[in-house]
Amino acid sequence: MPRLDSTLRAVTSSPARAARIAFAACLALVIVAPLGSRASLHAQAVPAPAPPAPVTLLTDRALDGRGGTLQGARLGIAAGRIITLASTDTARVIDLRGYTVLPGWIDTHVHLDSHFDKSGRIATDKEPALEQSLGIAQAAWATLMGGFTTVQSVGDLAERPLRDLIRDHGFPGPRVLTSLAPIIGRGDSTGTPEQLRAMVRERKAQGADLIKIFASTSQRVGAKPTLSLAQLTILCGEAKALGLRSMVHAYRGQVAVAGRAGCTQVEHGTYAAREDVEAAARAGAYLSPQVGLVVQNYIENKARYLGVGNYSEAGMQTMLRDLPLDFDVCRLMMAAPGGKVVFSTDATAGAHGRNADEFIGRVRDCGVSPMQALVSANALAAGAMGLGDTIGALAPGFAADVIALDGDPITDITAVRRVVFVMKGGVVYKWDGAIAGRR
Ligand SMILES: [Zn+2]
Repeated sequence: MPRLDSTLRAVTSSPARAARIAFAACLALVIVAPLGSRASLHAQAVPAPAPPAPVTLLTDRALDGRGGTLQGARLGIAAGRIITLASTDTARVIDLRGYTVLPGWIDTHVHLDSHFDKSGRIATDKEPALEQSLGIAQAAWATLMGGFTTVQSVGDLAERPLRDLIRDHGFPGPRVLTSLAPIIGRGDSTGTPEQLRAMVRERKAQGADLIKIFASTSQRVGAKPTLSLAQLTILCGEAKALGLRSMVHAYRGQVAVAGRAGCTQVEHGTYAAREDVEAAARAGAYLSPQVGLVVQNYIENKARYLGVGNYSEAGMQTMLRDLPLDFDVCRLMMAAPGGKVVFSTDATAGAHGRNADEFIGRVRDCGVSPMQALVSANALAAGAMGLGDTIGALAPGFAADVIALDGDPITDITAVRRVVFVMKGGVVYKWDGAIAGRR
């Protein structure tokens, strides 16, 4: 019989209640740290929680995040890290045998700021700041509950206080990296070379973890190029000089342009030709197609989006009509020599917490093997974010980000929707005791 301390027992006996308590306690932080304020000043009164006591996770089958499988690993967790795969410590044990255990997933492209307001429609900048804060916090919570322990959110200034509260003060949510506000290409009027560099430096000074760049207009309004090779070379080059990565929203030939400009990661890729995809892969860029979630979510929630920004009926129809072209681009990316196809959902309102649906799309509509799809959200995604030594693998020294699935995703990819256990940094945020008891 596994022994659990009182905290874990509370979570086990009533996961929903424990989650609500943790969430409610942390809302106080949001309320005293409205957007645009310096969260750190307000949050000083709430110290970071002490790390939980060491614990051993019993597993019978685990995926190591790098494409390997571990049999009978006993993960020793202490101070938020995995210290061994062969723990003999039985003082505190969580029994995950019967489930598939793997590293917490990493989504390299989400929009945590995107949420529905209290009327159920996509929130705009007219939403009261407090409600915006709660919306973004809820998106973060849903994402964590979906098994994603790290996300890259690109981007909005509101992601900074969220990132900092989660990182420094125990606020519940995935580890967040953020680009803050993106740089939006506007052709020649985007700025002079010096102005372009200044845009990158400004974001670095604001605390951005990477630079997000729009080099094409939205697919809903034509997917037209908005930045030249010279402009992108300046932007991505400046980012690199400052030690930051760059992520580029690109369609058609802009995929190749972003690769040639030395940008780190190229998103979407719709309407790109084989040569464009191969050029970007050859340049070493990480490639990110979306096939399983973002468009489907827009269509499912269409009525909540229509009429705001560029969300029009025609634009939605274009995305739906061209979804099979996204499947084709995904296959081109997978087939490109040296292609590093990383996990990236572009999750917006309605999609948070369902990020794992992208795995199902990758397997079903892009021909990716389940193991490859899973690794794209573990070791490969960690590498794409410059965190390959700290997250994305079950190995000694890595962060104790561990999830468990009810089922085997290698034989049934829909098991990714059945996340029963979530640990991030050694803290248990979800453990479905009811299912645990059936063994
Ligand atoms: Zn996006």
